[in-house]
Amino acid sequence: MQLQFLGTGGGRFATISQKRMTGGFRIDGIDGKNIHVDPGPGALVRSHQYGLNPRKINLLLVSHSHTDHYNDAEVLIEAMTQGMTKKTGHVIGSKSVIEGHEDLGPSISEYHQQKPKVTTLLAGEEIQDGNITIRGTQTHHGDPTCVGFNIKYNDFSLSYTADTEYFPELAEEHKGADVLIGNVIKEGERKIKGHLRTLDFKQLIEEVKPKVAIMTHLGVNLIMNNPFQNTRNITQETGIRTIAATDGLTMNLDQHLG
Ligand SMILES: [Zn+2]
Ligand SMILES: [Zn+2]
Repeated sequence: MQLQFLGTGGGRFATISQKRMTGGFRIDGIDGKNIHVDPGPGALVRSHQYGLNPRKINLLLVSHSHTDHYNDAEVLIEAMTQGMTKKTGHVIGSKSVIEGHEDLGPSISEYHQQKPKVTTLLAGEEIQDGNITIRGTQTHHGDPTCVGFNIKYNDFSLSYTADTEYFPELAEEHKGADVLIGNVIKEGERKIKGHLRTLDFKQLIEEVKPKVAIMTHLGVNLIMNNPFQNTRNITQETGIRTIAATDGLTMNLDQHLG
C-alpha cells in the first residue's frame, strides 16, 4: 500500500499561484484498490507526471465544494469510467459536492454522476466498499457539509481531517488512526476561521496519538516560512513522527498494516 501526494498546497492563494501543487493524494493498493482523495486543480496532470494511471482509480473521495478539493473530479471520473463508457468506480462526496448545498455545488455534473456509483457521505456515516470502510468525520468549515475521511482496512486506519478548524471533539473523530493527515493552512498564534494552524495540528496529534502524522494543504505563508521547522518541533514536543508533505512525496504504508 502506497500513499502519494499530488499536491500539498491549499487555500485560495497557494492554489491560484501554484506555489505548491493542488492535486490531492492517492492511496494505492488498499484491498487491491486505488483511492484518489480531493482532486484539486492539476490532479489529472500530476497523476501523469508522477506515473499514476488515472484510469486505475476505483474510489474518488471529495471532501467539499471548494475548488482546491473538487476541481478535477469530473475529468478523473472520465478517466475512471474509461471515458464515460463503463459503469465502474465509486465517487463519495459531501452533500455539497454531490447534491449541492445552498450556494455551493453540486460540484459534479449529473452527466458525470451517471456512470460511477455515487454516494453522499455525511459526518458520522459509514460506507462499506469491499473490505474498506469509509467514515465521514465532522468538520467546522466554510462549507458546512464538508467531511473528513476515516479509511479503515483490516486493522489499518488512515484519517484525513479535510478542511476544518480545531474543536474539542475533533480528536474523537480521528481516534485510532495509524496515519493522520491534517490540512494545515498557517503557523502562528492568530486564529483563522475554518482551518487548522500548526499549533492546532500539534494538539490534535497529542490527542489522537497516530503512528505518523502528515501535514498538507499548506497556505502561502506557511510554504514561504518553514513548514519543516514546524514539523520538527511538533515531532520533538509530541514524540510522534510528523512530516510536512512535499509535492510527490511517497510513503509505503505496509509497515503500518497489522
Ligand atoms: Zn482547502
Ligand atoms: Zn475549504
